[in-house]
Amino acid sequence: MRWQDQSETFALPAFDALQARLGAFERQKLQDTNGELPRVVISAACWRAMREDVGQSHEERGGLLLGRAYAGTGAEVIVAERSVASRAFDSTGVSLRMESGIWELARPLLKDGMIVVGWYHSHPNLGAFFSETDRATQRNFFRNAFNLGLVIDPVRNELCAFVGPDSMHVPDENVIVGEGA
Ligand SMILES: [Zn+2]
Repeated sequence: MRWQDQSETFALPAFDALQARLGAFERQKLQDTNGELPRVVISAACWRAMREDVGQSHEERGGLLLGRAYAGTGAEVIVAERSVASRAFDSTGVSLRMESGIWELARPLLKDGMIVVGWYHSHPNLGAFFSETDRATQRNFFRNAFNLGLVIDPVRNELCAFVGPDSMHVPDENVIVGEGA
């Protein structure tokens, strides 16, 4: 399928609603972040699933990120709770192709406030960064202020996060990868 712009605007729940959903580790880590900039929390399960997906291939791989976004005091807090890997993946900036079945995989998970918060893809041994193509993809398909783009280089073991239509780079200290089961 071709990913269509999802430009509905959501009223984001308040940051307080997030605290109750986090484990002690993530809550503690969040206290050390800069609330003026976007903050990203990747659940342990989401991280594991993404690593499993991108780690299998030296081809570029990718998929959707599902989770919740919260209005922080200064900037959004985005929580990636689940990833849905696409067997087909191709992003050119003006088009983003994922397998047609990905919605069937994602749809049952979109409940209780869970939304598509963004996308992820891999740069095997190229380094984790947003290329001009990636910026165009983000701008065209993930243009909400809370939309998250993750890039993983499984070879160099790098992770980078970008948020919003202008692909603002999220500093490493504001990216929390959960631990635990
Ligand atoms: Zn890329």
